[in-house]
Amino acid sequence: MIRLLIYGFLIYLVVRIVKSLGRSLTGPDEDVGDVPRSENTELIRDPQCGTYFLRQQGVQARIGGQRLHFCSERCRDEYLRDHGMR
Ligand SMILES: [Zn+2]
Repeated sequence: MIRLLIYGFLIYLVVRIVKSLGRSLTGPDEDVGDVPRSENTELIRDPQCGTYFLRQQGVQARIGGQRLHFCSERCRDEYLRDHGMR
């Protein structure tokens, strides 16, 4: 009886593995479809003006060992000025 349970469990595991393999072969984008994992599509907030923008469109600045992102060079300059960096 216990052996039957073990066999059943093994068969269940094999079915699960085959199904997951089949899924990854047929549609690799299925699981990550809803959640954008790429940094290029990440929305970040400009600490100066509060605008949300895509990271790839922003301007980077390293301030006190911290990396900040701004929507434009103007906002970056204003932020630096407001914080006494220039
Ligand atoms: Zn801005």
